[in-house]
Amino acid sequence: MSSIYHALVDMVGEDYVSNQPEELFTYSKDLGTSEPKWPEYVVVPNTTEEVQKIVLFANQEKIPIVPLGGGMSLAGLALPLKGGITIDMKRLDQVIEVNEKGRYMVVEAGISQGKVTAYLHKHHPNLMHSEPGAPPAATIGGNLAIHGQGDLAHPYGFNSDMVNGLEVILPTGEIARFGSCAVGSGWFTMHPLPDLGLFLGWGGTTGIITKVSLRLFPFKKFREMDQFVVEDEELVPEILYDLTHLGLSEDLIAMSSEIPPLYDRLHHITINVTGDSKEELEFKRHISYDLTLSKYIRSGVGGIASVSQDIQRPQISKSADWKKGGGFEYVGSIMPVSAYPECYRRGAEISSRHQIPYTILGRVIGCSHGMMFSWSYAFNRADPETVRHASEALQETDELVMEMGGTIWKPAVFGQKLILEKMDNTTVQLMKKVKNLLDPNGIMNPGNWELD
Ligand SMILES: Cc1cc2nc3c(=O)[nH]c(=O)nc-3n(C[C@H](O)[C@H](O)[C@H](O)COP(=O)(O)OP(=O)(O)OC[C@H]3O[C@@H](n4cnc5c(N)ncnc54)[C@H](O)[C@@H]3O)c2cc1C
Repeated sequence: MSSIYHALVDMVGEDYVSNQPEELFTYSKDLGTSEPKWPEYVVVPNTTEEVQKIVLFANQEKIPIVPLGGGMSLAGLALPLKGGITIDMKRLDQVIEVNEKGRYMVVEAGISQGKVTAYLHKHHPNLMHSEPGAPPAATIGGNLAIHGQGDLAHPYGFNSDMVNGLEVILPTGEIARFGSCAVGSGWFTMHPLPDLGLFLGWGGTTGIITKVSLRLFPFKKFREMDQFVVEDEELVPEILYDLTHLGLSEDLIAMSSEIPPLYDRLHHITINVTGDSKEELEFKRHISYDLTLSKYIRSGVGGIASVSQDIQRPQISKSADWKKGGGFEYVGSIMPVSAYPECYRRGAEISSRHQIPYTILGRVIGCSHGMMFSWSYAFNRADPETVRHASEALQETDELVMEMGGTIWKPAVFGQKLILEKMDNTTVQLMKKVKNLLDPNGIMNPGNWELD
């Protein structure tokens, strides 16, 4: 024990290593329903070289390591399921470069979403990245490791589609680069080199991302949020098809929620309307509402619920308050937009069976190329019965997603197993070969995406 502690202290300094229960305690839990899992050590490196030393050491000693970003992914994904060392990445938080005209920025992977937004706002007010609706402490690296999506999902896609380059520490300790940065010519593209696709979406089981080049997009000066409402869930895919055909909005989210009563059994479609002038906003609203959605208004099946609100991120965390005790977790899934009505009906049934007020949301990805669905389940942390209900509801929702032919997004271990059971065997075998090749000692976030 003490030799591991001293080795870690030699790598990062005494202030940034702990094996003390009161500090390990905070790393043993996340915000969701997962049982606590304790690391033996927590280490908080400051540089890529320090991360590399830790990984080389862990690989040599065959000690499990778990990269941790903001710890906001909720599904127990950054808990040390097999003990070992939690590597807290939050001190790797520097902006390395912003290429304004090339619209990309290079950052250390532990930088928080909030810091990126604040930095751009201050130094490059014409640029933005696609920030997830997660609390701002979530990191760039953690979000890419689970294929997150942010407020530019429509029209630009998953955040992991917005990567121009990566630096990764392999489980055996080598530092590898991917994209144009691998040939030393800058961090401006992942293309046209052969695709290795080994790290995004692997939940930190194949390597630790240390640097990222992120695509940036125009930040429009005027930013407002409108809501269109319908009672019939069957209309939602059609309305989203109409709106994505126009391509005039920044973020499109359909939501229904038992609380507050205003949202119950209704479907509010949030439309973020942005522009560089008031005239641009008016033009977009004229095309969107007067010329396109007016057919729903005229036939009495839909209406404008609000216009010109301040933009808010999808506040699924508000559903944590639906029960006393402030706990919540959600299942995410990627499915076609056409699945919205069934996701809503069957999700509301699961919630009702477990006496949890339902909150069901779908965010459009790309030009209606898919939707990120979420079903949130609140529980009281101090009441094991409500935790049990939430856990069961989460597992039933995972099963529902698989039954509907969807893919579970950022699955917990239970959902990972469901996916692997259904996955094409050749693909599973290939994943296994890749994992064994990269991580011969099985040290990287073990317990997640186990393929044996
Ligand atoms: C209220 C709320 C709203 C949310 N809304 C959204 C949303 O709109 N969109 C969205 O995408 N997500 C959302 N999330 C989910 C999640 O918080 C985010 O995806 C978040 O960006 C995850 O980043 P993190 O740094 O917290 O990751 P963590 O939870 O720390 O880690 C996630 C996974 O990545 C691994 N990992 C962490 N850092 C690295 C690294 N540097 N290299 C390799 N692997 C690493 C971890 O081991 C773990 O497996 C939401 C969560 C909450 C609580």
